[in-house]
Parts: sequence; C-alpha cells; structure tokens
Amino acid sequence: MGKVTRQVQEASSKSAAAKGSSSKSVTVPPPLAVPHINIEMRERFHRHFYFHGKDNQPELEAERKACHWCQIISFTTAKLAPISIVNPVDDECLPKDFVFIQHCVPGEGIYLPDAEFLSGCDCKKTSSCKYAKCHCLQDMTILDKRRPEVYVYKSVNGGEYLREEYLDTREPIYECNSKCSCDDGCPNRVVEKGRTVPLQVFRTSDNRGWGVRCLRDVKKGQFIDRYVGELITTEETEMRRQQSVISQKKDVYLFELDKFKGDSDRDPSLANTVFVDGEFKSGPSRFINHSCDPNLRIFARVSDHALKRFHDLAFFAIKDIPANTELTFDYVDGEDEKLEEEKKDPGHRKEMTRCLCKAKNCRGYLW
Ligand SMILES: [Zn+2]
Ligand SMILES: [Zn+2]
Ligand SMILES: [Zn+2]
Ligand SMILES: [Zn+2]
Repeated sequence: MGKVTRQVQEASSKSAAAKGSSSKSVTVPPPLAVPHINIEMRERFHRHFYFHGKDNQPELEAERKACHWCQIISFTTAKLAPISIVNPVDDECLPKDFVFIQHCVPGEGIYLPDAEFLSGCDCKKTSSCKYAKCHCLQDMTILDKRRPEVYVYKSVNGGEYLREEYLDTREPIYECNSKCSCDDGCPNRVVEKGRTVPLQVFRTSDNRGWGVRCLRDVKKGQFIDRYVGELITTEETEMRRQQSVISQKKDVYLFELDKFKGDSDRDPSLANTVFVDGEFKSGPSRFINHSCDPNLRIFARVSDHALKRFHDLAFFAIKDIPANTELTFDYVDGEDEKLEEEKKDPGHRKEMTRCLCKAKNCRGYLW
C-alpha cells in the first residue's frame, strides 16, 4: 500500500468495524463506508486508498497528481502533523482543480534570488542564535531590553513559543536558514521546521464553507502553519482580480507581501511587492476562516535578508486553543477605521461583504 497516513488507516479500520464481520467472500474491494465524508469524496478516497499506492501503474500518474490525499501525504510533515479532510454536512468537495502544496511556487515574472546571494550566521554554538551577536537577528526590534536573549521565542518543555510581547505586535520574525552554521537544534528555526499540529479541513455547518480545526491542544504563541500559494506580480494580481467572478471573493485568497515596502529607500526592489494567491494552489491554512475575534495572527517571517521581498506569512496562536476548535484569523487584521465610515453609507453598504463570524465584537462586514 506504500505511503498511507495513519489517519487514512484509522478511517478504514473504523469503517471495517462498522460493517461488522461479514463472512461473505469478496473479490472486489468493498466501497469504503467512511462516515465523515460525503459520497463523492468517498469515491475519490476509495480510488486513493485502493489504487494510488501502487507505483507500478504509470497510467495512474495524472490521477495521483490530482488526488488531494496523495498531495497531503507527500508533505514532509505528513507523519508528525497529518492533514485530514472531512465533510459529513453536504455534497460539497474540495475544488477538483485545487492543489495542496507545501511551499510557495513562483509564477511568471517572479525570480527568487539565487542561493549564492543568501547568507547565514556563523554561530558555533546553537544556543548563540538566541543572542544579539547572531547575524540573523541584526534587524530585530528588541521589545524587552532587559532580557539577555533577543530572539522572538521562549523555550518551554523543549518547544519554542512566540513571546507574549510580540503576540500583540506586527513585528517581523527573523529566523536562521540553510546557510547558517548552526544545526537543526537551533532554537530559532520554528517556522522552518514546519507544522507540528495535525489540522483538519472540515465543512462548516453554518454556511461559512470550509474551515480548519486543530486536532490537538495548542498553546498561546505556538506556530501553526504558513500561508503558501503562487507568488505573482502586481499586474498578474490585478488580472486575476478582474477575471474572478466576484473580485471581493478573490481578495480572500490574496496576500500582498508588503511588510518591508517601507524600507524601499534602502533597497528599491522592495517597492515592487509580490502577492501570494492561495486560491488554486495552497496548504490547509488556505481554508482558515475569518473572525473578528480570532485565535491566530499572521506574522511576516524572514529566513534570509535577501528574501525580505518574499517573506513568509506565518500563523501563530494568540491564545490557548483547545483541541477540535476552529482556527480563525482576522482577514483585515483589525484595520477597521475605513470600514466604520463606509458602513454609515447605506448605498455603499449594499456592495460590502458581510461577515459571518458571529463573534460578540463582530464588525458586521469584512470589507
Ligand atoms: Zn491518492
Ligand atoms: Zn541558528
Ligand atoms: Zn546564529
Ligand atoms: Zn542563523
């Protein structure tokens, strides 16, 4: 069977148990009675479970490539933090043309700097990467000047968590990278190491489409995942907006990587910002819904100073989140001054996108 995630195996054994120990001899595999997904998803899953593990069938290559389960089990974090997809609610499936990817893919006209332009620190001891002498931390804003360590994390029971004083800010995070002389034990490689929490993409039962929940308890300051997608130019972004049936809907999937735009007097290339489009290619975090009272926030994260223009978008928990809770973030990150003005105009209000988050402090509209 090859690479089958633990979750997939659990799902099948559960279904076998549900069916009871029928003694009929079967020559064809029975359809998988997976209770937490709808009929079409069940059929797609059936194909995956019985056919996609066989490498000796090249004619299935295209089908495997398009299979969401094949895509998510190819992630390097698949064993440690598997992704599952469930829909016991309606007939909707994830869009067929959607592709799960682990890293951003550059689109036309986007050129990432060559590896030779990247540089790292020369820290000999891995614990040195917590202190100001580490080259990777040279641009950090130090919020607590009394603290000897300057990196943004704190170690708790072997894990690194974003410190309290950063959770409420928009400060960028600087981490070590592959060119650094420190090793895997470096405490400043949290985002680089990737997702550690199993996530579940699920169909919401209150008309908010898909959502994402964590399947384990999450601690305040814990890294959840990055937002990945196609890296596209401003021109391409404008074109995609216009092509999209509802341009406001398109905005849900678009992020402008503009964190360092203000530094463009020092580095003119930063003025020319790049966008991330997660509509067609992305990771599970693409399905995270908006809330006016969110439990996650996005931080700009830089692994190399030459990559500021392509900085990562990293989700961190801003509160403790119990297992099986829906994860949310604020799509406009609390910037609601313009919104309050626009809401007052009844003509404009008709054009605005309603917010469905049901939070007590809900602003009523997204934009
Ligand atoms: Zn598959
Ligand atoms: Zn390091
Ligand atoms: Zn270092
Ligand atoms: Zn470093």
